[in-house]
Amino acid sequence: MNYTSTRDNSVKVSAAYAIATGISPDGGLYVPETVPAFTYDELLAAAKADYRDRAVSVLGKYLTDFTEEELGECVDGAYTGKFGGEDVAPVVDIAENRFVLELWHGPTCAFKDMALQLLPHLLTRSVKKTCDGKEIVILVATSGDTGKAALEGFKDVPGTRIIVFYPVEGVSAIQKRQMVTQEGGNVGVCAIKGNFDDAQTGVKKIFTDPEIAAELAKHNMAFSSANSINWGRLAPQIVYYISAYADLMNKGVIKNKGDKVNVVVPTGNFGNILAAYYAKKMGLPIGKLICASNANNVLTDFLRTGVYDRNRQFYTTISPSMDILISSNLERLIYDLSGCDSVRVKGWMDSLAATGRYEVDEDVKAKIRELFWAGCCDDASTQATIKDVFESQHYLSDTHTAVALNVYEQYIKEFGAEVPTIIASTASPYKFAPAVLGAIAPEKLTEDEFDMLAALSDVSGVEIPAPLAGLKGKTVRFDLVCDGSEMKETVYALACVRQENSEW
Ligand SMILES: *Cc1c(COP(=O)(O)O)cnc(C)c1O
Repeated sequence: MNYTSTRDNSVKVSAAYAIATGISPDGGLYVPETVPAFTYDELLAAAKADYRDRAVSVLGKYLTDFTEEELGECVDGAYTGKFGGEDVAPVVDIAENRFVLELWHGPTCAFKDMALQLLPHLLTRSVKKTCDGKEIVILVATSGDTGKAALEGFKDVPGTRIIVFYPVEGVSAIQKRQMVTQEGGNVGVCAIKGNFDDAQTGVKKIFTDPEIAAELAKHNMAFSSANSINWGRLAPQIVYYISAYADLMNKGVIKNKGDKVNVVVPTGNFGNILAAYYAKKMGLPIGKLICASNANNVLTDFLRTGVYDRNRQFYTTISPSMDILISSNLERLIYDLSGCDSVRVKGWMDSLAATGRYEVDEDVKAKIRELFWAGCCDDASTQATIKDVFESQHYLSDTHTAVALNVYEQYIKEFGAEVPTIIASTASPYKFAPAVLGAIAPEKLTEDEFDMLAALSDVSGVEIPAPLAGLKGKTVRFDLVCDGSEMKETVYALACVRQENSEW
């Protein structure tokens, strides 16, 4: 299986090359040339298998330059013993036809672990296969959860260094603390004055800057990306939708071949829901893909109208991992829906870069209408949903998951709840404790973030995840803050200079 670029169909690279380099030099994203099928027989086999074997069977279809043995080693390294509880991605039945797929039992308590525990294993093997000997510098722009998950995934992985930029405006106190206390000899963390889009735009610029690439080459280093634009991030996410469906077969919810489920995903950069789209395209019986946004509802508007317009107010919300106005992975969707028309996609992306806006053609709009439904909700509704679901279903959800639960209720009002529905739950409620506590017991709010974890546990009876409880005693290692325009120098300082002084 080869990969091409969403902006240039003449590109043809291996999976290992796509993973090792992250983004195509033309600025496009790597996509598989064809989407492989996952047959009903394979689904029956998956139902009998554990998460590890499900992952190997799905990944093997996309990463054809990896042997089954290599994939097995990668998957073991990623998931064995790293996820609390028995299941890597348990499906929790919270009410009739509502199944919450909990993706946050990994070391950083957010769904990013599902991919970022695996990516370092895939990436280091990919680098060996394609550009052996180079030290890989991972650059990450984060809206909060990616940064920590990437730091945790890459810490002390030989042959890699990782630098994370997070926006000063817009990560939660716990998220920040998770990052600035990160351990490991190959890690660097820096705050950016601005929001997530500023951080992401800055990182993208650095990736394609020939000057800094030359500087890194002198040091025998090369950039790669752990952002969700890297195919090595996306492929592992396809697995858990297939796994969830297999679990529903085992629970007897899915009885017959072809029985459909709907999927609701709280969405930011469009990576998680895109993985569900690929799962559907592989043959998994998914009905509607329901895209849930917070007040930054650029995707709701796009999926409803076909017009993408980022020229709008940016809101800092209580679901900060979705505070995004440029959803990078959407490019992969419109590429696929346009019939792999890289010329049209390049035109839309050029227009987005120049004016902040583009409008897809009628053929693409029609496909979007058939596949997707979209909705959004503001912070007040998000908190009302947390309270309501906690009181009526005894289920404690984080702010992002609550956006999905809220949007799903909106969907039900229009279309009913007859179809079993998988609701992606993307973070532990403890990661966003002030907003969650504020929803269910506002009288318990305090100044101290750790007191609030304890209060939330008292009120809900749900245990604080060990990685968050353990943050309290950790030392702050990183207090760098820089301007968008200083990011390049920061990368240079954190990568090359530190390498020379070998005090990284
Ligand atoms: C990253 C993240 C999201 C958004 O996922 P995308 O793949 O960017 O759409 C939602 N919720 C949480 C908790 C996240 O960390």
